[in-house]
Amino acid sequence: MKDFNLDKLTRENVKGLSPYSSARDEYVSDGTEMIFLDANENPYQNGVNRYPDPQQRSLKSILAEQKGIKSENLLLGNGSDEVLDLIYRAFCEPKEDNIITLPPTYGMYKVLSAINNIENREVLLTTNFEPNVDEILSTADKNSKILFLCSPNNPTGNSFATEKMHQLLENFKGLVVVDEAYIDFSSQESWVSQLNNYPNLIVTQTLSKAYGLAGVRLGICIASKEIITVLNKIKPPYNVNELTQQRAKERVLDVDTVKQEVSEIMTEKDILSKVLLEVNFVEKVYTSDANFILVKVDDATKRYNQLLDKGIVIRNRTTQPLCKNTLRFTVGTREENNTLISALNQINN
Ligand SMILES: *Cc1c(COP(=O)(O)O)cnc(C)c1O
Repeated sequence: MKDFNLDKLTRENVKGLSPYSSARDEYVSDGTEMIFLDANENPYQNGVNRYPDPQQRSLKSILAEQKGIKSENLLLGNGSDEVLDLIYRAFCEPKEDNIITLPPTYGMYKVLSAINNIENREVLLTTNFEPNVDEILSTADKNSKILFLCSPNNPTGNSFATEKMHQLLENFKGLVVVDEAYIDFSSQESWVSQLNNYPNLIVTQTLSKAYGLAGVRLGICIASKEIITVLNKIKPPYNVNELTQQRAKERVLDVDTVKQEVSEIMTEKDILSKVLLEVNFVEKVYTSDANFILVKVDDATKRYNQLLDKGIVIRNRTTQPLCKNTLRFTVGTREENNTLISALNQINN
């Protein structure tokens, strides 16, 4: 990526901003016991009567160490959905700029483009669910600020070919967001290791999937210090609440439990993939680098409704491009998967 100029990609109004300075930002502790009469809080302790750390310093230092980066390369948000929204708002001028997405993919990119009034240019994946590099580069123009690469991709489950991603990072003139929501289930290395090679790279991750914390909402943005500085200018000061920071810290420190659960999910995924292949109405089971399996069936809507009748909710992806008659199964516990398997056998005709 030659001649990268972040300033040219940043919205004019954002360039001039400085981060909102809250009471808790201004005071820097030197370790002495202090009396806090600066933020109009209720002084009676209940565990959450104080504002949370707006910079989430202790959670970031744990994450930075685990990922082999620095805290200055991290921005945390209320789920990766907030992180993605901040990226749109920092770099895309409504009604002027555009972003590029590669359907079939994660639905939030399109929703966020609509909310932010940013044109979403869609370039379909190829039939084997890989990015169409030439088509993407010819669709881009000087207002194409962001390219979203979801790898492993939702709902297809595959990771994109490394070489194609390098070509895109090398040649796309805007920012490249690699959404790694499912990276902890993947055999592929995280693109975080490439941050020093690509100043236009932003990696997003989440505690919602492998880390089992969908309910606390913690999204992670990893990028150059310069990109993080821009995003910090528009970040709401207290976007990650105290309870989330506490639960996230406990969980990311509990490396063994997370590893164990991921490994069990992977084992279950293999079992479920094999069983699905044996089902009469299943035409194809796509290989998955994530914790879900995309399956092509004879009639997706019929099979979806049959499973619903048996109390099992899956995702019908039949309306998505390249996904006609496909269903997406999230891998559950052994018990849940066994119930699914017996339901599949009952409707297997
Ligand atoms: C589930 C998912 C996310 C997670 O979003 P959160 O807001 O962090 O829960 C992000 N990207 C993709 C592709 C996903 O499938």
